[in-house]
Amino acid sequence: MSKTKGKQLIIPKRIVTADPKDSILKGYAVEILDNKISSLITTDKIETKKYDEVYDAKNLTLIPGFIQTHVHLSQTLFRGLAEDLHLLEWLRLKIFPFENAHDESSLKIATQLSINELLLGGTTTLLDMGTLRYGEVVFKEMIDSGIRGFTGKCLMDVNDLYLEFKSSTEEEIKDIQNLAKNFHNSEEGRIKYSFSPRFVLSCTEGLLKEIKEIMKDYLGSIYHTHSSENVDEINEVRKRFQRENIEYFNSIGVLDDHTVLAHCVHTSANERKMLKEKDTRIAHCPSANMKLGSGIAPIPQYLKEGISVTLGADGAPCNNNLSIFNEMRLASLIQKPVHGTGAMGAKTIFRMATIEGAKALHLQDEVGSIEVGKKADLVLIDLDSHDNSYSDDDEKVYSDIVFSSSNQNIKDVMVDGQWLVKERESLIYDQKEIISKGKAELKKLLKRL
Ligand SMILES: [Zn+2]
Repeated sequence: MSKTKGKQLIIPKRIVTADPKDSILKGYAVEILDNKISSLITTDKIETKKYDEVYDAKNLTLIPGFIQTHVHLSQTLFRGLAEDLHLLEWLRLKIFPFENAHDESSLKIATQLSINELLLGGTTTLLDMGTLRYGEVVFKEMIDSGIRGFTGKCLMDVNDLYLEFKSSTEEEIKDIQNLAKNFHNSEEGRIKYSFSPRFVLSCTEGLLKEIKEIMKDYLGSIYHTHSSENVDEINEVRKRFQRENIEYFNSIGVLDDHTVLAHCVHTSANERKMLKEKDTRIAHCPSANMKLGSGIAPIPQYLKEGISVTLGADGAPCNNNLSIFNEMRLASLIQKPVHGTGAMGAKTIFRMATIEGAKALHLQDEVGSIEVGKKADLVLIDLDSHDNSYSDDDEKVYSDIVFSSSNQNIKDVMVDGQWLVKERESLIYDQKEIISKGKAELKKLLKRL
């Protein structure tokens, strides 16, 4: 990526900041110096000659880039190939064999297709679960694409569901040491390492504990795993450890404020107490929870108890989409029949997909809102299209974004001061090329099964 970004100015119709006051600004422009927001200035004070680039976006709304705290970049090639199954069967019959059949070329195109889809939908920061092999391929693609986020090797040193798809504890430790040393905080901190044990049933206790120790050498890294997603899974955890999933994590000392647990659909009052006490973060993935028949996570309860909740699309084969808009909409709607129409309002959801995501990943000083000094991770969205509301009232922007919009409304996307999507066109990937490569690599991969 080019490092020279110069001085840019964006003049939008309005700015939805997601700052602590939820300010919505009209008559303001955003000045960007290199990769940071250097000033918010009133439009009457603009001197266009001062800038290398001025973008007059007066029909568009400027919002912070979306943050997804649980995705699987490696799985996008498998979209549509693992339908109508519960979690453990979905893993055993489909996902583990598919991921096991990845080579470097198929993983590279899967990662490109994922990042392409995420960027076109306005997601600028992600937390990826990785896969068992070729972790460096994912890092290199994240670096080259310009997106922000965390990835790491998906750790599996036991696997009763699919025996071939695992590694030894020693190899897992060696690999993550290499990857973390090479890639953590690369690209001036845009890329970070996430230690990613897949879930309790795929890791020995020794591995789960040791990586928490190794994390201490990599400040700002994240411990990212799945937890308490499905009833069969938690029954199996109970059988093995005589404890609930989160109680087990707590007993081995891996819960803290740098741990992100995907799902947490089934939790007890005692587990919720532990999540709160340890300030552990939850990545809520409502589409995946519905599609795999896992259940509805008690998110209003978590929020009431002061537990951090953010959003992720999970993987393409359990969604089947990586759109934050689907997750935002569902996260709100699935709770209303039980918790009342006042639960999970649009502004709460919008914050979960922006600033709360940043806080969960300890990136709140850098991204998640539009404030002076933060990195320029910005999205321009058209809220005046035929499928949005016809009122210009400020407060309705949240429901327009959460309930009425889709990826189609996203026009321009900037990460770290660099345009990656302009006028709905990716500036990174040739669409025809990556789709045809994806199809060709998938064909080859399926022959390797
Ligand atoms: Zn997942």
